[in-house]
Amino acid sequence: MRLITCPYCGAGCRAYVKKELSRPFMIEYVTDINVPNDQGKLCPKGNAMLEHILSKERLKVPLKAVEEGKFVKISWKEAINEIASFIRDHMKDDPNKLMFIAGGKVSNESAYLFQKLARSIGTNNVDNTSHLCHGVSVKAILDANFERNWAMYDDIEKSNVVIVWGTNLAETAPLIFRRVLKAKKGGAKIIVIDPRKTKTTKFAGIHVRPFPGTDIALINALINLLMERRNARSAHFTASDLKIISKYTPERAEKITGVPARDIEKIAREIALAGEGVILWGSGIALHSNGYDVIRSIITLASMVDFKVLPLAGQNNSQGVMDMGVVPDLLPGYRRYDEVDFFREAWKNEGLPTEAGLDIPKSIKEAQKYNVSAFYIMGANIAVSFPEAEKALKRAEFVVAQDIFPTQTTELADIVLPAAAFLESDGSTTNAERRIQWGSRVKWPPKDAKPDWAILRELGNVLELEGFDFYFAEEILREISTLVPQYANASPRTLIRTPEGVRWSMEPHSGPVRTYTSERMPTLEPPVMITVRYVGQFQTGTMTKRSPSLNVMWQDLPILVSEEDAQKWGIKDGDRVRLVSENGEYIGTVKVSKTVIPGTIKAPWHEGANRIMGLEIDEETGLPQMKACSCKLERVE
Ligand code: SF4
Repeated sequence: MRLITCPYCGAGCRAYVKKELSRPFMIEYVTDINVPNDQGKLCPKGNAMLEHILSKERLKVPLKAVEEGKFVKISWKEAINEIASFIRDHMKDDPNKLMFIAGGKVSNESAYLFQKLARSIGTNNVDNTSHLCHGVSVKAILDANFERNWAMYDDIEKSNVVIVWGTNLAETAPLIFRRVLKAKKGGAKIIVIDPRKTKTTKFAGIHVRPFPGTDIALINALINLLMERRNARSAHFTASDLKIISKYTPERAEKITGVPARDIEKIAREIALAGEGVILWGSGIALHSNGYDVIRSIITLASMVDFKVLPLAGQNNSQGVMDMGVVPDLLPGYRRYDEVDFFREAWKNEGLPTEAGLDIPKSIKEAQKYNVSAFYIMGANIAVSFPEAEKALKRAEFVVAQDIFPTQTTELADIVLPAAAFLESDGSTTNAERRIQWGSRVKWPPKDAKPDWAILRELGNVLELEGFDFYFAEEILREISTLVPQYANASPRTLIRTPEGVRWSMEPHSGPVRTYTSERMPTLEPPVMITVRYVGQFQTGTMTKRSPSLNVMWQDLPILVSEEDAQKWGIKDGDRVRLVSENGEYIGTVKVSKTVIPGTIKAPWHEGANRIMGLEIDEETGLPQMKACSCKLERVE
């Protein structure tokens, strides 16, 4: 029996897989409580994790586009040579014309080789799709010097107060939510901060509903109240912090957020008296244009009472792709470019670039300005997950898309490369509590499909780049464990023999926490569309929409509107409506729901509703507004 890791959310649940003659696979639940999947349980997605692998729609051979939407089969040799000759032409000219984008579902070994390929070619234009969400959280924790309070799942159960902020944890990471329920059973107070009513809010002792984008006013008011209490240890605030905080009385915060002042006081009291506590947050916080500010402010709040923090990684390897340096401004292990000599020596390549590269929003939104004319996309359906990506890919001179299924992104590619799925390749992933876990190959990939890292190895070798001679994923992990300090304990020998995985090995920095306060809030005029996720679907549905058992219950996901707004707009269940923003429109079927706060509309992320957000980049924060946007609702006649 071989141990694998669920390919969906960042919880990192594990399962043993055993082959059977009558059925292709059967999952046996893990019973080892040291494995962080909560005593062998899996959520509906985890239970169905093997279904999509067997879909007849898998990509099985390399393809070349001959005209729009029409592909012919080609050999691996032709595919790799074609990509290599395009890259060679650009290497001579300007490697920054290339943009490399990886999804948060690829293994550490594939992610590491991906950025090594980009940098060896001479560009730092490399990014991952989790960067704007989990990446913002990781950066905020490191910048604040708060790694020592980065929680593990066990910390949730030990807490007297658990704050779940901007995430419907019961649906997005049900096995982490089980820990919250255990804490509640043990007497912990559960506080949920979310404008929506969700499965998670049903279990809250206190649920408050700030209007989308206004969380920072609520945090400032909580900091203000905590400062007034003597039993809250005070962080070392700067004069400018104090000036900001002093303005935010509970009454002022009520006016901005809509959360009653008495509830803000109640939350402050619970936090101050908790002793041990933890704050969990998700994309509802991070994906706003002020996401970094909000997260740094949450960390400042947590530091006042010594709470732990746990950002919830959305994808199975959101953490790992960040650790591997699949980001334009950091090398593997979060090394900065002034340490580039370390990698120049290790990779025997004096030409590694030192200028920060482009991130995904810039490479899409400002492709023309930055002269980006080619994309290499590995394991990401950016045509759906990123507003305006479809346009950028259509305009590009050359697009390579590597995935396990045809997607809206592979449809726009010039060369499509068939990749192995998670259990068709050995490799490691790193979950939300920074636990690195090895997943074993259980079956061979279909027909000509290959592991992502093996495809990159071939390309690197054809391009005659140094350091691509790997025959096993273990060899790449060995290189990672010698060059990435956080993975020093994760040698292949240790990791493969340790079912519970190993945690980041880095000692947290000592020194004081760096406080941070802000008043920056996006302007959102009602009605505001918020994207939502459901337990039975994942990201753009590349895998879950090919899973028969999940599609029985979770398809044709509706647009949810409040009773008050439905009455005002004269719409009812089953009506077709169009949500129109400055950047596009999204059509869906209405369901009137008590779970929606008036003035907001809930639309399913999995169906691509996020594409109407636009990719306008906030000049001050450098981040786009990707969680909520103002829109108009029109009835489709
Ligand atoms: Fe998979 Fe996440 Fe469900 Fe665990 S909670 S089984 S990792 S989808």
